[in-house]
Amino acid sequence: MINFYSIEHPNKGLSNASKLDKVIYNEFVSNKKYLNAIANKIKEMVNTHENVIGDIDDEGFMEGALLEKQHKYKERNSKLVTQKKQQRLKETGYLSCDVCGFIFKDKYGDLGEGYIECHHIVPLSEIHVAKKTNLKDLVLVCSNCHRMLHRKRPWLTVEQLKMLIKS
Ligand SMILES: [Zn+2]
Ligand SMILES: [Zn+2]
Repeated sequence: MINFYSIEHPNKGLSNASKLDKVIYNEFVSNKKYLNAIANKIKEMVNTHENVIGDIDDEGFMEGALLEKQHKYKERNSKLVTQKKQQRLKETGYLSCDVCGFIFKDKYGDLGEGYIECHHIVPLSEIHVAKKTNLKDLVLVCSNCHRMLHRKRPWLTVEQLKMLIKS
């Protein structure tokens, strides 16, 4: 938070805010209520699950939590998701998981028609405020594979998960 303070008060001498701090700051300065909620959540976790925090490096944790929120937001951005799905349908005629090939419609019939999840593949470290999400940065994945991609930190890549289920 001291780094955020120095972004807000650039003449106060503390100038070691990293580029990443600035990215996060700019992204969330318009939503201080949310930032506050995240901070409280982290405090709550520290108080109640000390050992959970233990293996997360504290410098990265705050940034990680905020960037993860940003990542999930991009994956839920319905306009992009719709565009991605439409593009895929045009190209291949069906929506299959880019990792395991699962097709919801095949398993669930009409209920699964048009369903698939989007995963944003640009590494968190490369996310910039100005960078707009490109359709190429999204992959289509089933819910199981999506969970597995996010299960470990750093997140697995699509290629890594593909290799894993092949072996
Ligand atoms: Zn899958
Ligand atoms: Zn994802």
